[in-house]
Amino acid sequence: MNRRLFLKWANLAGVAAAIPSASAFAQTASHGTTGTSAKPASPETILLKDYRPQSIYKVPVTQIAKAKYPVIDMHSHPYAKTVGEIDEWIRTMDEVGIEKTMILTMSTGPEFDRLYGQYSKYPERFEVWCGLDFTGYDKADFGPVAIKELERCHQAGARGVGEIHDKGKGLRSGKLNAPGMHPDDPRMDAIWQKCGQLGMPISLHVADPIWMYQKMDRYNDGLMNAYEWRLDNQPGIVDLSGMVDIFERTLAKHRNTTFIACHFANLDYDLARLGEVLDRNPNLYADIAARYAETAPIPRFAAHFYEKHADRLLYGTDMGLDKPMYQVTFRILESLDEHFYEVEQFSYHWPLNGFGLGGSILRSVYHDNAANLLSKRGTNPA
Ligand SMILES: [Zn+2]
Repeated sequence: MNRRLFLKWANLAGVAAAIPSASAFAQTASHGTTGTSAKPASPETILLKDYRPQSIYKVPVTQIAKAKYPVIDMHSHPYAKTVGEIDEWIRTMDEVGIEKTMILTMSTGPEFDRLYGQYSKYPERFEVWCGLDFTGYDKADFGPVAIKELERCHQAGARGVGEIHDKGKGLRSGKLNAPGMHPDDPRMDAIWQKCGQLGMPISLHVADPIWMYQKMDRYNDGLMNAYEWRLDNQPGIVDLSGMVDIFERTLAKHRNTTFIACHFANLDYDLARLGEVLDRNPNLYADIAARYAETAPIPRFAAHFYEKHADRLLYGTDMGLDKPMYQVTFRILESLDEHFYEVEQFSYHWPLNGFGLGGSILRSVYHDNAANLLSKRGTNPA
């Protein structure tokens, strides 16, 4: 398991506290045995999982220690588990230029209250968002019960909802699942409407990267990451395109509610379609979290997309809290560096390229779009 997936898994499983340090894991995980025994290295013996090409090009290399403008990170999770770890995270945020971080807890009840208690001590630096209570999703009183808990979390200080997942099997909030119930299900209507009334945006993760749905064969462009999280072997799930359709139906039904599509709605491979979805749905933003390596292979197309939709894209990370993690994202957004590898960070052996985004685009994506979205909360008609 690579570092990004590991952190995500650790967070979902609630075991991140047990990790000595994320980079230590990356070290041990990435220098394991090649599994090639005594055979000499050759194209016949080097496995794809062990492939670590190093760029041969003498081209500019840009070191970006701190983002060019102040940043609001719209997609993170409660990675820091203790007061000391939270203090260290704030020091890192200061050093790299992160003004504020959204902590998407995915939780409700006592777990939300505990996390809120930890992070709300720093109201200038963190916002804590709650999950949804899907416990009684198949019971008649599901809506009222879930809304009651949503209102309680809001009263306690939650300013948004997230991260809510639907990877094709149904909605999920942390460990709570609602099999077969998708975002456009009528049972969700009153809940999404209430989010709008309370001025709570929803961070919604639909589908997953396209290579997870494709055949696990030698033609799969993302094979180095795809196999572990494969979805091609799960018949009956709603596919990526179907999930985007479901998302659009949800957006159309709830124009007074603001949604944030996590990870470009997993349309990072088809940004033209995402552009159309954004054009059709004024109540939608998209975050760029954890899709840096997926867009850096197409820097010109991606940069054009950023330019065209600069007012709808939100910076996010979703990849832990290490300083180098933030710095890689800045390099991809700000520099025009070409053909560099970040295998330890992203687990792709694809060469990456910077977008060289201009100042006004960077300001919008790093900060201003998020600031506008956050400041306009609470103004929706009840
Ligand atoms: Zn996330």
